[in-house]
Amino acid sequence: MNQYRRKHAIGSAIVVAAVTVLNVNDAVITAIARDCGSSVSDTNGRASNLSVTSGCASSVRVTRGHVSSVSVTNEPGSGLSVSVTNGRSGTVNANENGTTGSRVEPGDPSHISGSDSTIYYRNKVVVLTYHDISPNVYSPFVMTPKAFAAQLDAFQKRDFHVITNAEFIRFINGQGPVPPNAILLTFDDGYRNMYTYALPILMKYHVQGTFFVIVGTADKQDPKTLSWSQIQTMEQEGMTFGSHTYDAHSLIFRHGELTPVFNTTIVVNGHLETEHQYYTRVQVDFVKARARLSEVLGVNVVEFAWPYGYGNSASNRIARRAGYQYLFTTAPGYVTAQSNPHFIHRIDVGKTNITPKEAVQRILDTGRFMPWLYHRE
Ligand SMILES: [Zn+2]
Repeated sequence: MNQYRRKHAIGSAIVVAAVTVLNVNDAVITAIARDCGSSVSDTNGRASNLSVTSGCASSVRVTRGHVSSVSVTNEPGSGLSVSVTNGRSGTVNANENGTTGSRVEPGDPSHISGSDSTIYYRNKVVVLTYHDISPNVYSPFVMTPKAFAAQLDAFQKRDFHVITNAEFIRFINGQGPVPPNAILLTFDDGYRNMYTYALPILMKYHVQGTFFVIVGTADKQDPKTLSWSQIQTMEQEGMTFGSHTYDAHSLIFRHGELTPVFNTTIVVNGHLETEHQYYTRVQVDFVKARARLSEVLGVNVVEFAWPYGYGNSASNRIARRAGYQYLFTTAPGYVTAQSNPHFIHRIDVGKTNITPKEAVQRILDTGRFMPWLYHRE
């Protein structure tokens, strides 16, 4: 510490109106803002530690700085704004109530923004849905590998944290935190292109994907979808798998509406199923998908993504009785530690024409504004 003190400036100030620190190299700056409206800013500085204690509204700005840590303590409800622009801040903590454990919620007067170490939201996960990743854009649900990589690149540059499936499960169980700006990447349908195109890109960015596969297609060796050996290779590379039914990924017309086959009785051999036959058909499918996937991967598969949205009360009950503990829907929204694991919200960013900027905006809009819905039964 002595050596440090000799080599580097230490700044300390009691702030009445404003303190501006310019071009200070590796300084430890402690500013105490006593008055309302006081501000502390560090422009082109290299402060390693900037801490601000304030009894009233204050704003902290770090512009083009290299601040390794910024911490701010403020009185509850007094309003606080922290911004780091082009900074290199390692951690930014804004503490509104003087206790440990920072908390910045959308709608609070507190706001933290910036281009490095930016915090948009905390204690939330926005789960993203993708479909096919292919150079052959045969539907609006196909992203080119280039567009997909550009999106991951934007997420990384904008300080989103791609969390692992295990982190997500711990979080939704209330057993662990997630980093700020947390996102989870999920891929539906298990196209073979996941192995060919998605896997190398995910590995390049060192992030994990959760893949929901239509398990029967692997058993049938459908050339358009992942083979068992590809699924195993992907799992060894760190990817995670869940079920997207065994063979119930289809819609039929019922009462004039296209309805997922797992949500309704269907006509089999000219006869409409009884409720019991419906229940058995869906249960056999869901159980078989879980059993096959668990057997091949050697893990207990407990995650399921609904094709076409989400289940109804009957199919939900079947899925849970089949042993699935986490049911992913396509209903938009974010996930908190209080969210219902049987109705996990996701947002779709896997469309052909979505730009990286639009994808980022959708995540921000979801994390900030989307109310989560409770579907506890
Ligand atoms: Zn699907």
